[in-house]
Amino acid sequence: MNDLKNTSNLAAIDAAHHLHPFSDMKELNAKGTRIIERAEGVFIYDSTGKRYLDAFAGLWCVNVGYGRKSIAEAAARQMQELPYYNAFFGTTTPPATLLAQKIASHTGEKLKRIFFTNSGSEATDTWFRMARVFWKALGKPQKTQVIARRNGYHGSTVAGASLGGMKLMHEQGNLPIEGIHHIGQPYWYAEGGDLSPADFGLKVARELEAKIDELGEDQVAAFVAEPIQGAGGVIIPPETYWPEIARICKARNILLVVDEVICGFGRLGEWFGHQYYGIEPDLAPIAKGLSSGYLPIGGVLVSDRVADVMVEELGDFHHGFTYSGHPVCAAAALENIRILEEERLVERARDHIGPYFAAAWKSLEDHEVVGEAQSVGLMGGLQLAADKSTRRRFAKPDEVGMLVRNHCLQNGLIMRATGDRMLASPPLTINRPEVDEVIDTLRKALDHLRDAKMA
Ligand SMILES: *Cc1c(COP(=O)(O)O)cnc(C)c1O
Repeated sequence: MNDLKNTSNLAAIDAAHHLHPFSDMKELNAKGTRIIERAEGVFIYDSTGKRYLDAFAGLWCVNVGYGRKSIAEAAARQMQELPYYNAFFGTTTPPATLLAQKIASHTGEKLKRIFFTNSGSEATDTWFRMARVFWKALGKPQKTQVIARRNGYHGSTVAGASLGGMKLMHEQGNLPIEGIHHIGQPYWYAEGGDLSPADFGLKVARELEAKIDELGEDQVAAFVAEPIQGAGGVIIPPETYWPEIARICKARNILLVVDEVICGFGRLGEWFGHQYYGIEPDLAPIAKGLSSGYLPIGGVLVSDRVADVMVEELGDFHHGFTYSGHPVCAAAALENIRILEEERLVERARDHIGPYFAAAWKSLEDHEVVGEAQSVGLMGGLQLAADKSTRRRFAKPDEVGMLVRNHCLQNGLIMRATGDRMLASPPLTINRPEVDEVIDTLRKALDHLRDAKMA
């Protein structure tokens, strides 16, 4: 076992047998993969012993930080008691039921029911079918079309990748599938032109109205969006955007689906992103922070409007996963939420560390290569710019993002780049010196980009 653990050996085995998600395998195999072996708090350690501050919380998910023994213990206890049973055909397990209740204690009055999945992608496929069966059960079977956004992200399954607005994903697998349409995104810095952010927010929101009218209101089932686009680059919409979207969904009688997979469970300093924006979703997929990534679990929050129809009118919903409401995952999620509550991590993100992070992040705007640095709670997006006075972007956005990202990595900081935007989403447990470390290391990487004199 010892020599199996040896880094180069493991890398060779990995290259021989392991196909990775979202990776160029040829490049990865040539370079050798980084092997992460352990973690504690906000830090992860690779197989050479090198320490990194994980300012990305894994993949936006480790909200309570690494190394929580109580979650491991809750899962182990549940595994010994009952490792598995399902929620099909009239059964449940105590953790699944109690988790549903626990989640409902943090949602609004009209969002009290949940359907469990194992991931955010499955949650997307689940609400996609729910939205259609909802309208069919109401006698409107032609209301099937779904509107989503360019540069949105909703997962990697066929429906998920179709609803997402990622061109590179659409190109692989002949997507999107039928019945899905994309409108613009509220990305003012890149696409706002001479409009003020407020006017631009209204303009892109009204693309929804135009698209519904083009398709016909009686054909459209739902609109889906993330409160703040995550994978798309932490695109924080102008304040005018969400109220207008909510107004249009109501006026045109289509379901509003808010993808809470990243924004849920405290990321924005509220339990859910829709609470931050003051809107009421009809359906809301969740995952990631639900278990802080300790075990895979997701779900769809279902409003009374939809749930009442499913319960009263639908009969059997022919949909579900073998592991929907898995008792061990549910036990881990319950303990995760208990920690969020007990340590008041959501309030801390809103009132204490969030404002501290916001000020530190914003301070980067004085840098020559930074066009804009915005954040909400503990989610930050930083726009790189070649000329900040004119909002001119670098000619090769992917290269500048990678340059900054790799410099951070070499200096022990995990950041993510989407094109020419740098993204941060640290554990909610991050403290002030750790925030300072993120900002110091990132600033050095920005210096490096400035000195590289790219066009
Ligand atoms: C990650 C993500 C998903 C997909 O979740 P998986 O668990 O990776 O399937 C869906 N929506 C959003 C907004 C996400 O960030």
